[in-house]
Amino acid sequence: MTFIPLERLIVDEITRKPLSELVTAKLAGMILDGVYKSGYQLPSERDLVKQFGVSRSTLREALKALEEIKLIEVQHGIGWFVSELDENNLALAHQVAEKITTSTPMKGEKAEEYEAPSGPRRLPVAPEKPLVIPNLKKDRLGTFSLISWWEREKVAAANVMVVGAGALGNEVIKDLVLMGVGNIYIVDFDTIEMANLSRSILFRESDSGREKAEVAAARAKEINPNVHVQYLNGDVTTDIGLGVFRRMDVIIGCLDNREARLAVNRFAYWINKPWVDGAIQEFLGLARVFVPGEGACFECTLTDQARRDLSIRYSCPLLARENILLGKVPTTPTIASIIGAIQSQEAMKIIHSKPVAAGMVIHFNGMTNEVHVTKYTPVEDCESHWTYGEITELPIRAETTTIDEMMQIIHRDMGPEAVLELDQELILSLKCPNCHTEEKILQPISKVGFNQAHCPSCGLLRETEMTHIISGDEPFSSRTLASIGIPALHILRAYNEDQYYFYELSGDLENALHFSHFEKQIEQPRIKLRDRIKIKEKVHLKDRLKIKLHESAIKLNIQQQEEVPKIHVD
Ligand SMILES: [Zn+2]
Ligand SMILES: [Zn+2]
Repeated sequence: MTFIPLERLIVDEITRKPLSELVTAKLAGMILDGVYKSGYQLPSERDLVKQFGVSRSTLREALKALEEIKLIEVQHGIGWFVSELDENNLALAHQVAEKITTSTPMKGEKAEEYEAPSGPRRLPVAPEKPLVIPNLKKDRLGTFSLISWWEREKVAAANVMVVGAGALGNEVIKDLVLMGVGNIYIVDFDTIEMANLSRSILFRESDSGREKAEVAAARAKEINPNVHVQYLNGDVTTDIGLGVFRRMDVIIGCLDNREARLAVNRFAYWINKPWVDGAIQEFLGLARVFVPGEGACFECTLTDQARRDLSIRYSCPLLARENILLGKVPTTPTIASIIGAIQSQEAMKIIHSKPVAAGMVIHFNGMTNEVHVTKYTPVEDCESHWTYGEITELPIRAETTTIDEMMQIIHRDMGPEAVLELDQELILSLKCPNCHTEEKILQPISKVGFNQAHCPSCGLLRETEMTHIISGDEPFSSRTLASIGIPALHILRAYNEDQYYFYELSGDLENALHFSHFEKQIEQPRIKLRDRIKIKEKVHLKDRLKIKLHESAIKLNIQQQEEVPKIHVD
């Protein structure tokens, strides 16, 4: 039997445990086959490491497991020896060895010399995880308990944002709810059209015209009512407060345009959160994880041409936005499943604090079935590389706080020269160079359409007067923060000559982040008392009724009390 180095299976720590089990099984098999005989010494650890192509720690785990079933024993200072075989350790050795020998290849497939770690299932040997045997009949997520490193509590407590509920988003959301991710925030600004149905497992024909985010959230809740969902029908680049991002464990980008990716990338960097990007086109796809401070970020990956494209678009921001809305990329449900699945798995690794390949990209070509993993080079002076400092939580809200009130706080903390820096341009007015007319706008750029920018009289594209700096003496400072485009629970950025300050509109927390859409009021079962009373034993009917009535009284809520059949006990 020749061994294919198992090292190639080691992608990261995740495969380490199954790998050690595999080595355990191989060694047990070799002892049973008489390759290593009772009473004889095993090759040195160094030789075994070479032979199996695994790390020393993996080998040691395997040796420990064999020691536990008393198949080998250590002689300190000398090495490992094969124990005498008796009925006890023999049976266990067979059990362990069978792990690899009973795995059958698929029909028509040639059996490999080595078996992948996913052999027939057996309960995990994970010292850090107590062995709990799940009830698979009743426990929806029970299977995951059998994965040695899976921590259901962590998954259930996780907050995950899915940006984009298109082909990729549908797959990712489906995967997350199936895996029991406890809190999912879904954002998309689009509505469902018939063409979406070809690659969106969460949408139905009757959903045509409805908001993608809302429908996706509703269906997610339907698939697994134990998860909590929240949706936002809006634009990720402008409509979500940074405080929402801040409370996520991971952000999954299921986007179809560079501008939105760039926005998510910056937000993620600002509040130091990992994000998982996916992109698909026809049979091609890629997935990548970006972790602030670890390798390249999304902006680092942009080519010079892409940067030029972006800057051209930014030079006419009104047009840029409309172009984004037009961009449609042909995709298939198959590539969406593949890439969405990789993204979901990366998210699970992040939730479990497992190592991820940050700043690397997995390219999948479905035509050639080639997979390439490449590392991006981080750009030294990348503009996205900036993480906010200490954030001051203010008990105020975007909708009710005026610019004036906010500036008072800023000036109090940072001096009268301090200014507020907006994330998006605020359009103050539109001026027609032809008619010399001026229209006051005072709206964030995201709310002003390209058509609106044209002069109503002569049709010429008007000059835009805009700003992203607020000093406090603006004539419109009695307006609210929300009115100039600041979303709820946002983190505001203010600076003076020396430094930046960060303020969160934490008063919005309750409304802006609740994960409680589609939570049903727990419906109380209508109890038909007669159905419930089955007298099989010789218990006095009187006593049974007393018990049942008592139970019913607890179970029925006040509104349903009229449903209680009137039964007189006496
Ligand atoms: Zn970068
Ligand atoms: Zn004009």
